Amino acid sequence: MLLIPKPACPHCGHPGFRRVKTAPNGDGGSTRQCVCLACDQGFLVIDEPTFQSELPVVWPV
Ligand SMILES: [Zn+2]
Repeated sequence: MLLIPKPACPHCGHPGFRRVKTAPNGDGGSTRQCVCLACDQGFLVIDEPTFQSELPVVWPV
């Protein structure tokens, strides 16, 4: 089992968030829409299947 580092909020750096929805990218990865538990700001977490050992891409929205 791979240990994947948890993404953190790009707005305040808090590691806790809840997923609002997950949309498949069509290439095996997925885009998760998340909301930070600390500052309540939204952001996207993009999982790329070819980079499983690296940090997921976090995109503020
Ligand atoms: Zn935050």
